[in-house]
Amino acid sequence: MSYKDKLRKINPYVPGEQSKEKDIVKINANENPYPPSPKATAAMRDFDTEKLRFYPNANATILKEALAKYYGVGVENVFVGNGSDDVLALAFQSFFCSDKPIAYPDITYSFYPVWCDLFNVPYVTYPLDENFRINVEDYKAENGGVVLPNPNAPTSLGEGEEFVRKLVEYNADSVVIIDEAYVDFGGYSSVALTKEYPNLLVTGTFSKSRSLAGLRIGFAIGSAELIGVLEAVKNSYNSYTVDSLSIAMGIAAVEDDGYFKETIGKVIATRTRVTNELRALGFEVLDSQTNFILATHDGYSMKELFEYLKTKKVFIRYFSLPRIEKYVRITIGTDDEMDRFLSEVKGFLEDR
Ligand SMILES: *Cc1c(COP(=O)(O)O)cnc(C)c1O
Repeated sequence: MSYKDKLRKINPYVPGEQSKEKDIVKINANENPYPPSPKATAAMRDFDTEKLRFYPNANATILKEALAKYYGVGVENVFVGNGSDDVLALAFQSFFCSDKPIAYPDITYSFYPVWCDLFNVPYVTYPLDENFRINVEDYKAENGGVVLPNPNAPTSLGEGEEFVRKLVEYNADSVVIIDEAYVDFGGYSSVALTKEYPNLLVTGTFSKSRSLAGLRIGFAIGSAELIGVLEAVKNSYNSYTVDSLSIAMGIAAVEDDGYFKETIGKVIATRTRVTNELRALGFEVLDSQTNFILATHDGYSMKELFEYLKTKKVFIRYFSLPRIEKYVRITIGTDDEMDRFLSEVKGFLEDR
C-alpha cells in the first residue's frame, strides 16, 4: 500500500471565477457592487495593531452582542464564524450526526453535497417542482436533518412564514437549518421563529448584503442549546475562527443600519430594472428575492451567451447541471455595470 492510497479523495466546491483583468464586469459570484460601510472602513483605519499580540475577544462575544441587539435575541442565541460556509460546515458536524439521510432540494447551494461527502453525512434530495419551488410536503419523510437556503440559490425564489413553520413542525425530531445568505434582499427571515422552535437554526453572512465577502464573517441564530453545541464543536478544532480586525469591522458594519438599507435599496432597484429590460428582450426571468437573477431565453443557448459575454469581459455564471443548464445566473451589479451587461446581451441576440 502506497501513501497515495491513504490520501483523501474529494471533489471540492467550485466558486465563481475570480479574475485580475482590468475593465471587467464581474457579476458571477453574488458579491455586492457597493463598498462596505464607511464605518467599517473607519474601524479598520482606527484599529490598533498593537492589539494583534493578543488572541481575539473570546468566542467573539462583542460581535455576538452587536448581532444579538440587531436581531432582538439574546447573546446566547448567536454564533459567529469565519464566513457562513464555516458556520454551515460546523452545523453539519454538530447536528447531522444520525445515520439517517439529511434532506435538501435537488437544485440548491452546491456546497451541501460537498460537506455531506467530507463529513460522511448521508443525504436525499427532493426535486423542486416545475416552477422551481420547494414542496414542503416532501420534507415530512423521516430524516437526519434538513438544510435549505431561503431564498433558494441559484433559483432566487423565497418561501414565507407558513412554509417555514410547516417545515420545522414536520421535522420536530431533527434540526432544520435555514441558510439566509440572501434574505436581506427581500426574503422572509425566520429569525423570530427561532424563539418558538428549539430545533431551528438560521444562518447568515456579511458577504452579500454587507459587502464584506473578503472579510469572512458568518453567523447563526438559534436556541441556546443549538448554539452551545456549535460552540463546543468549534472549540474542538479552532477556538478563534474570527480574528480581531474582523470583529471590530463587523461590529461597525452591523451598527451602520442607514448605509445597509441604502445599498440594499439600490441593488433591489437595479434588479427590478434589469429584470424588466431582460423580459422586454424576450428572456424569462424568475422573480428574485436575492442579489442575483436566474434567466433563460427560448431559442438561444445560455451556455453560448455565457461564453460570448466572457469574450466581452462580462462574467456571469453558468451551471452545466440537470434542469438548470438552460439558465444563466447574473449577479446584480451597479447600474453602469448592468448597462454594459445589457448592451452586450443585445449584441449577442443580434449576432445569432
Ligand atoms: C454565499 C453563500 C453562502 C456563504 O457565504 P460566506 O461568504 O461563506 O458567508 C452560504 N450559502 C449560500 C446559499 C450562499 O450563496
